[in-house]
Amino acid sequence: MSSDQTQSLSKTSFKFFGLGGSNEVGRSCHILQYKGKTVMLDAGIHPAHQGLASLPFYDEFDLSTVDVLLISHFHLDHAASLPYVMQRTNFRGRVFMTHPTKAIYRWLLSDFVKVTSIGSSGSTDKDENLYSDEDLAKSFDRIETIDFHSTTDVNGIKFTAFHAGHVLGAAMFQLEIAGLKTLFTGDYSREIDRHLNSAEVPPSSSDILIVESTFGTATHEPRVNREKKLTQLIHSTVLRGGRVLLPVFALGRAQEIMLILDEFWSKHSEELGNGQVPIFYASNLARKCMGVFQTYVNMMNDDIRKKFRDSQSNPFIFKNISYLKNLDDFQDFGPSVMLASPGMLQNGISRDLLEKWCPDNKNLVLITGYSVEGTMAKYIMLEPDTIPSVNNPEVNIPRRCQIEEISFAAHVDFRENLEFMEKIGARNVILVHGESNPMGRLKSALLSNFASLKGTEDEVHVFNPRNCVVVELEFSGIKVAKAIGNIVDEVTSALGVQVKPDLGSEIKAEQEESNGSPDRKKETDEKTIVSGILVSDEKNFDLNLVSLSDLRDYHMDLSTTVLRERQTIHIDCKKELIYWHLCQMFGDMEVLIDDEGITHKTQEPAKPSANNAGELELKIMGDVKLNIIKSVATLEWSQGIMNDTVADSVMAILLSVDSSPASVKMSSRSCNHDHDHDHDHDHGHDHGHDHDHPEDKHYKGNGIGSEHDDLWKIKQVARLCTEQFGDCFSYKFHESDTAGDIMGDVTIGKTKATINLSQMKVAECDSNPLKGRIESILSIASDLVAPLC
Ligand SMILES: [Zn+2]
Ligand SMILES: [Zn+2]
Repeated sequence: MSSDQTQSLSKTSFKFFGLGGSNEVGRSCHILQYKGKTVMLDAGIHPAHQGLASLPFYDEFDLSTVDVLLISHFHLDHAASLPYVMQRTNFRGRVFMTHPTKAIYRWLLSDFVKVTSIGSSGSTDKDENLYSDEDLAKSFDRIETIDFHSTTDVNGIKFTAFHAGHVLGAAMFQLEIAGLKTLFTGDYSREIDRHLNSAEVPPSSSDILIVESTFGTATHEPRVNREKKLTQLIHSTVLRGGRVLLPVFALGRAQEIMLILDEFWSKHSEELGNGQVPIFYASNLARKCMGVFQTYVNMMNDDIRKKFRDSQSNPFIFKNISYLKNLDDFQDFGPSVMLASPGMLQNGISRDLLEKWCPDNKNLVLITGYSVEGTMAKYIMLEPDTIPSVNNPEVNIPRRCQIEEISFAAHVDFRENLEFMEKIGARNVILVHGESNPMGRLKSALLSNFASLKGTEDEVHVFNPRNCVVVELEFSGIKVAKAIGNIVDEVTSALGVQVKPDLGSEIKAEQEESNGSPDRKKETDEKTIVSGILVSDEKNFDLNLVSLSDLRDYHMDLSTTVLRERQTIHIDCKKELIYWHLCQMFGDMEVLIDDEGITHKTQEPAKPSANNAGELELKIMGDVKLNIIKSVATLEWSQGIMNDTVADSVMAILLSVDSSPASVKMSSRSCNHDHDHDHDHDHGHDHGHDHDHPEDKHYKGNGIGSEHDDLWKIKQVARLCTEQFGDCFSYKFHESDTAGDIMGDVTIGKTKATINLSQMKVAECDSNPLKGRIESILSIASDLVAPLC
């Protein structure tokens, strides 16, 4: 699929177009275009807005042109507008996400539909709902799932998912279009927490990195300290009889906080009055999704897997935490800890509890996630005196409770982000998923970090575009050919390296100008030359280097043809004579059939045919087969420059021997007779000088240097040159012309060469490549025309 928009792009320019999540956190959606392919990354909503206003700027782009949409993880700011895109726009592309993301996405978005319809109940406009349950169900079936580490190819767009940490199922995507590699981190963390591993570094380098910048240049406090602070704050609050509200996003980080609290409660059971201080998790959704967390324990870290194995119980079923379906079931007497969603306190249970508890100074609101600009979670951190009631905006509720923030948001800090970028080695970095200020600071910090590379070919370019502002990067056609089959062995033995058998290895056919990475330099430092057939698949941008023998195995779709040529002529002369002439010309030949023992004198064994019909069959110069049976000579060979020329020569011999009057002579004599005089008589010519006659020399077995041979040779050389250069080659040739050397001319455009055909030399040439080419043709020619015996 390509639109006018994509067609108008220069073929080698890469375009990044942010529809959301550029210079903001929320409604992540990025468009990438390269070589007529369009990829969309994420389709989120902005938690600070409602209805259509929460969407990315979909009107600014023709969504029907998108080939592939990849969803990095289930968080609402990355996935919640997907049903809208799939059901309510002209989007027709394919959608991919990982298995756990899809499993959780289903529950999450049906909850989102409910919450937003409650949240917008104050609004009279029903259309403010982005989509219905029905839209969600319909779109769900069309979402395709992918495994981590396996590469999917959609019409030349190749992508691979890698673990991103952050939340269960979160993926980074490495995309490859026509050899250009882009890595999109999504939200990612480089810290091993209680249940997830840190983000992976993909094994191969990327040219472009699209990276989150949530925390800008901030540095995380060590995790142990944060855990300690969290438990101490909660502990002291409940000891003074207060209530603790932890607004959390239903899934992902909530599970992490619960793992911490559950462990702390078990360890400090006595101090906490043996169950007198309850922990609640007010989310129906989390309960539903516990099964998903159990299913995908294998995607979590060693610690949690071990717990699961050892106890054979779900580590996400907590001893000290109870689920609360809704607030009606909640008896609010005395101290308690409550995890409640949504995390941004915009509406729902967490907002209700906030409004209920914030007037009491014994209580604590503890923010652990990332708070998006424009939401109540962000506002409350300013410790305002009052907050507006969500159901009655006229009413202001006094705020006296304690407000604290300890971040467990699984996003990289500056040091982690920089270290990751250095590992990826991309020369183009596009920052997304960050508010303007931290993102701007991150850009400056990165540029000063990479300052020493400025002006070199390794210079790192950092971009922090706004929404709907295009970033265009020029790449001078990257051509990467993948060597497959036997050629891999050739390369590996030449380089002395090991390559995994069926992965193949990539050979940089042409180094791009403005991109590359440390990895690549290593590749090009050790140069090795291999040859094979380049098979190009224009549609999928695949370029494979295959050896001829592997061609059928790897490219079944490609038809290969070997042309067999056959010529049959009638001959009158004896086989002995033909054999003798061929011996003169080609030396030893393989005798396939020899009924009459003609080759006996020179060849050891006679090889009779089955029918013993006086058949003679010879193999000449490898692959040209001559069969003579009775008076029919058949010449057969596989087409190719060498074989064609050999076959031509054989044919020329057959014709000349057959028409030569000497044949008559030879038909009754053996080759080595002294026949000079007889010959003259038979011939009926008198040149007055027996030995001058060209035919004589043949009979003496001494063809070298004779005029006839020279003429014949020149003809063959000229024929070869004509085959090579067509009309660009010309020469003057007359049978009688024996004075001086015969010259040929090659004229290709302004380039000229003169060839001395007699001496088989390039006499004059103003172009070295052409000269080299002619010389190699002459060398083939001299091999072919030289008598070998
Ligand atoms: Zn996220
Ligand atoms: Zn996010």
